[in-house]
Amino acid sequence: MVTETKTPSQHDLDTIARQLGRPARDIVEVGARCVCGNPLVATTAPRLSSGIPFPTTFYLTHPTLTSAVSRLEAGGLMNAMNERLTEDAELAAAYRQAHEQYLAERDRIGELSGVGEVPEIKGISAGGMPERVKCLHVLVGHSLSAGPDVNPLGDEAISGIAEWWTADVCSCAGAWDNEAPLPNKDLSRHVKTQELADAEEKKRLRRLKAEAEANTDAGGKAETAEQNSEGGAL
Ligand SMILES: [Zn+2]
Repeated sequence: MVTETKTPSQHDLDTIARQLGRPARDIVEVGARCVCGNPLVATTAPRLSSGIPFPTTFYLTHPTLTSAVSRLEAGGLMNAMNERLTEDAELAAAYRQAHEQYLAERDRIGELSGVGEVPEIKGISAGGMPERVKCLHVLVGHSLSAGPDVNPLGDEAISGIAEWWTADVCSCAGAWDNEAPLPNKDLSRHVKTQELADAEEKKRLRRLKAEAEANTDAGGKAETAEQNSEGGAL
């Protein structure tokens, strides 16, 4: 079995940043993983380090999964779900329970992250819960993190995307660019690398200049090298 732990490793955080194409911040747990171990869901602190309350605790990060859910939404499933919620008391009750479970999980994450209580979003979950369905991404993220039989409509949405994504098949290959520079590249490391590159480049140019001075005919060559170095420094 591949990684089961919910505690995000640096590799998980890097992967999430690449999946999202932007820096991954305030991630407390990996809510769910692909069968291969890659993150599917980032469990995020209820208050971001910027201070902003963040109700979307279970955030889908995997591009294949995210776009599959978008396709499902585009198909109009949410309208049908909303209708059923007004007619089916049993479903409505189970959905309300899912909302309660979501809030309890978020409290746990808030505590775990050190953020604590977030009064601005107290009692407010996400995705339209507890009475409506407004975002299937939220429900799928919740279902994947909580496991089956917690969020009935999240479970249904997962079944609904089976054509494009299922939990037992890895669809990571080619879903994001693993070679891409990290969107959240640590600034100090970047600067350090940059300085090193500059120092080496200066050394190289000094050497070229010395060679050029030693041979007056090569003067033009050094000039060219200096031009090219601008693009080559990175
Ligand atoms: Zn995978």
